[in-house]
Amino acid sequence: MIVAKFGGTSLADADAIRNAVNILRDNPERKYMVVSAPGKRFGEDIKVTDLLYQVYEAAENGRDYMPALRLVQERFEQIAADLDIELDLDREFEMIIARIEEKPSRDYLASRGEYLNAKVISAYLGWPMIDAANTIFFDSRRRFDEAATYPVLRRAMRRAEHAVIPGFYGGIGRDEICTFSRGGSDVTGAIAARAVKADVYENWTDVNGLLTADPRVIPEAKTMEWISYRELRELSYMGASVMHEDTVLPVRTAGIPIHICNSSDPSAHGTWIVSGMPDHVKKRGISGIAGKTGFSNLQIEKVMMNVEIGFGASVLRIIAEHGVSFEHMPTSMETMSVLVSTPQLDHCRDEILKEIDDELHPDRIFIEDGIALIAVVGEGISNTGAAARILQVIADADISIRMVDASFGELIVIVAVPETDYQRTVRALYDGLKKDM
Ligand code: ASP
Repeated sequence: MIVAKFGGTSLADADAIRNAVNILRDNPERKYMVVSAPGKRFGEDIKVTDLLYQVYEAAENGRDYMPALRLVQERFEQIAADLDIELDLDREFEMIIARIEEKPSRDYLASRGEYLNAKVISAYLGWPMIDAANTIFFDSRRRFDEAATYPVLRRAMRRAEHAVIPGFYGGIGRDEICTFSRGGSDVTGAIAARAVKADVYENWTDVNGLLTADPRVIPEAKTMEWISYRELRELSYMGASVMHEDTVLPVRTAGIPIHICNSSDPSAHGTWIVSGMPDHVKKRGISGIAGKTGFSNLQIEKVMMNVEIGFGASVLRIIAEHGVSFEHMPTSMETMSVLVSTPQLDHCRDEILKEIDDELHPDRIFIEDGIALIAVVGEGISNTGAAARILQVIADADISIRMVDASFGELIVIVAVPETDYQRTVRALYDGLKKDM
């Protein structure tokens, strides 16, 4: 049994919805559909969710919110007319206006895109709608509440043979709405898949899957056909994105594979995200390359640092006290490098330098900005010799490596290079490691 989530571009207008419904009907195992709000129909179009945030901003600041709300209403009216369905949208919008007049709520308004799209699609499909407001819950700290959600959602889904579920939001307290962060319908889909122990969680989007490298740097990057949850986590942490980052946890815990599919090319292989590779999948060293810019390297040097117990702990404490988290921390006998995000460091760099100086008396301390981190990720990285080739490729391209970290359960090698060499490094790695991917 399959839970299929469709993203905003895959449901942007009546044609897209018809296409999604055809996909759904193509396989009777697709029993539950999780939907996003209508997304962009063309480049300059505005997503329904963004229009709803505009409605909120206007209402909150005492401005006229009706123009933006009318655009939302017109979009749904157009979809309903094109799909030829009966739905009292006037009444729905009267209720929304009444809520705004009472007190505008940002999350409530944002959620109406998914809510109305689920209503429309449920009417078109003839499947019942399960409202996430009564089946997915958030706690008082606005975090997803597993314990409250699963029994209720499971019961509601099991009772219905088929259902349409709006993504992105749930209920909080009495009668309030809370949303996940942007793109959160992916998370709803994963939660729904886990609730009913689906065999597969399908995530229908507008691309063929996860790419082996950033297409802005490597236009010819290929789709990864199979990838492990662990590889996905590392790649998305390093900037590769195709789904909301909280999507993996619910399905991974339940051992449910994720299948990323393209609604404009439903027969394409897509990307399968699994815990262990099936036997027929060819073993390869590297799955993909991802990277981010905007890091700084805090370099500390002190003779005999190695015998000073607690030196590293004190450095990290001082950084942490300023709310800065560290990404990597390679050390040698007398030097220590701490890689941190530059925007985090910016509001407290002088204080950190001074406090380390006063407390630990290093011989030299300085910050090097403009660092990029590039990760090469693959379950087979350590036993295929790929790690050695990574360094060789970068050296051959005459790029100076600022740091190498390869201590992550034999899954990932991270190199730091000057930001100005970022694209060149990704290109060199891609060309040099093609046959490992
Ligand atoms: N509609 C929401 C957004 O645009 C959630 C989603 O599409 O996943 O962020």
